[in-house]
Amino acid sequence: MERNFNLNLKKNNFFKLCFISIIIIFLIILIIVGNLKKNNEEKDDKFRILTSFYPLYIMVQNITNDANNVEVSNMAEKFTGCIHDYTISTTDLKKFEKANVFIENGRNLENFTEKIISIYPKVEIIESSENISNFIEEDDEINPHVWLSIENYIMQIRTITEKLEKMNPENMEVYSKNSNDYIEKLEELKPDYEVINNIKDKKAICLNESLEYLLKDASIEVTSIETDHEQSVLSAKVLGNIIDKMKRENIKVIFIDKDDDTKTAKILENETGARVYVLNSEMNGNGSKDDYINIMKENIEILKNIKYL
Ligand SMILES: [Zn+2]
Repeated sequence: MERNFNLNLKKNNFFKLCFISIIIIFLIILIIVGNLKKNNEEKDDKFRILTSFYPLYIMVQNITNDANNVEVSNMAEKFTGCIHDYTISTTDLKKFEKANVFIENGRNLENFTEKIISIYPKVEIIESSENISNFIEEDDEINPHVWLSIENYIMQIRTITEKLEKMNPENMEVYSKNSNDYIEKLEELKPDYEVINNIKDKKAICLNESLEYLLKDASIEVTSIETDHEQSVLSAKVLGNIIDKMKRENIKVIFIDKDDDTKTAKILENETGARVYVLNSEMNGNGSKDDYINIMKENIEILKNIKYL
């Protein structure tokens, strides 16, 4: 009898223990699930900005510096060429799933924006070149590669800042302050252009359309050759015409981008005694916030020291 009683007591204790254990395990599961949910909700609270390519990525990094709950990523992350030659991949499309806003250059530089709008109608689009008016035009076609003009670049910053302030008012003051600070730094580059502007008879051939706005700001008289960033497409006839023009007008300067093939430029150099200068159109870089400004300084330094005659 006593033994049975002991046994029952043990059994009771065992069940109690089991019951308590189950409750504890249940509570732990509840806490874990709760936390996971909370984490997910926190993630979804983030304001996600996707930029189309490198110059805009650097720009937006500056505008959103220290902003609360903002994530900036770049769509064409590992691509080194011009976004206007870009074919959007399924991996890229995935990036739009969580994006709140897509910031593009616009003016058809991104030929895939229509597709994005049709697949992800909820993603807001900021066309950063929206307020630019002084475009370089050839044969009624606008050159959309605007970012190497400091004025245009500043205009793009202002447009993006204004739109971000409305879409994400939580960070309004941060955006506004960052934007003003960044523009101030960019304005400091301007006096250097005066030095270049004072150089006389600046004639040149430009073999890459992304450099045109920089050369325009430096008031260089440029003959632009339509290459679509690819000089090897130039026919012998076109090449012959350029050589004739260079000889006739005594043009001694040829501009190409650092990522360009140098073959055509070398032919022109050999045929005319001109010299090739390599500028940087900033389609790629080290990713630091100051990269645009640092590369512009290098470009300006090259432009200051050119021998035109
Ligand atoms: Zn391009």
